[in-house]
Amino acid sequence: MITQSEGITAKGELCFFCGQPTEDPAIQWTGNPHTIFLHPTCAVDFLLRLARDVHEMQCKGPLPEFASAYQQYAAGWYAGRGRP
Ligand SMILES: [Zn+2]
Repeated sequence: MITQSEGITAKGELCFFCGQPTEDPAIQWTGNPHTIFLHPTCAVDFLLRLARDVHEMQCKGPLPEFASAYQQYAAGWYAGRGRP
């Protein structure tokens, strides 16, 4: 989360999810090479859709190499905790 007191402001930026102007406080993520801004409520909606897409990818096959690696990691994580 960013606030104006941190020297970074979301004012003048557009929300990555809904496209509307953002205000402080907002969610900011810096990736390579872009920085995105999200309204806090839009961040939740974006997170839910991102999780849905990951779950859908996990359930479909054949999986791309990176998804298969994730599936193996998840299986190991669950096995270590005694879950199916
Ligand atoms: Zn938004």
